[in-house]
Amino acid sequence: MTSSAPVGRPLRPHGKLLQEDTRRHHRSLLLQQLLREGPASRADLSRTTGLTRVTVSDLVGELVSAGLVEELGAPAVTRVGKPPTLVGLAPDSSHVIAIDLSVSGRMTGAVLNLTGQVRARHEVALEGAHGDDAVALVHRLAHELIAMTERPVLGVGVGSPGVVDAEGVVIDAPNLAWRDMPLAAGLAEDLDLPVFVANDANTAALGEHTFGDAGEGGLMVLLVGTGVGAGLVLEGSLLHGHTGAAGEIGHVVVDPEGERCACGRIGCLETLLAVPRLRRRIAEGDPVAHLTCVGEQLGAALAPVVGTLNLHELLLSGPVDLLDGPLREAAERVLRDRTMPVSSTGLVVRTSILGDDVVLVGAAVLVLAGQLGVS
Ligand SMILES: [Zn+2]
Repeated sequence: MTSSAPVGRPLRPHGKLLQEDTRRHHRSLLLQQLLREGPASRADLSRTTGLTRVTVSDLVGELVSAGLVEELGAPAVTRVGKPPTLVGLAPDSSHVIAIDLSVSGRMTGAVLNLTGQVRARHEVALEGAHGDDAVALVHRLAHELIAMTERPVLGVGVGSPGVVDAEGVVIDAPNLAWRDMPLAAGLAEDLDLPVFVANDANTAALGEHTFGDAGEGGLMVLLVGTGVGAGLVLEGSLLHGHTGAAGEIGHVVVDPEGERCACGRIGCLETLLAVPRLRRRIAEGDPVAHLTCVGEQLGAALAPVVGTLNLHELLLSGPVDLLDGPLREAAERVLRDRTMPVSSTGLVVRTSILGDDVVLVGAAVLVLAGQLGVS
């Protein structure tokens, strides 16, 4: 029951449109509208989605029977004639299990509802586990989280460090000693639930896109932790890349004379920005000067990306005491200096409002997108 991660929409349609595809697409349109805009009447839903009244009534009936949507009665404002009945997403009709493997020393998890609210939390200590032992810990955490909700579980989403392919195979995650680890398939078989696994930074970008404060323009989330990686949402789709490694800017060399990186090369962006290294260096010298210097190097590394993609928002996600101050200000200054005004006008450089939950919330979005077609 594994499903591929919600990757970019194809530019060219291919294959034959099947009736069930059409129905699923229409269902997603309605759910998306209710998730983003809140309760609506059937007539409003018909107007905003472009579906006929008959199709809307039919699908709403099906969604009400399934428990995902509920009748909310008439709105408080009365008009002449009988006011229309509103329907809305039933946020706790099903729950989603989310797991974040990006945190150092532990695996964190949560039970979330359909609107991305955390209903319960749980975590397990990593205690140096790697390889198959780390996989067993993920399975244990998933079972314990499922036991924490009495609602039907829609699926399990996992944000993992490293490169993850569209089938949820972790191609390479050095910190957990995983190579070609079929994490999604193993979990799906064990839990008998749909399981979606994606790179942690990609997951963070999905979380920001759906439940954060992100606008409709291009979004890049730079996840700064033990490692450094980015996730990009462009034109409404998560960018996956040719080999599933889109956003791996943490291992672009920015200082060939610098320190050795975990990947074996010298002077990757990660060697400047990874939290343990940043903390060590600011403890050794002048914190403001050091954070400014790193921010300038980050701005220089990201300027070609911002210029090429005409991004709207660049979000720094990680410890705010390190990221939100001289580092962010220096990065923003260099970004503006090094790109055309047309690229930097309207560019927002800020920290994430989802804080430490960004990967968890994004892991829930993996499930919502995969199972309900909403994000
Ligand atoms: Zn590296």
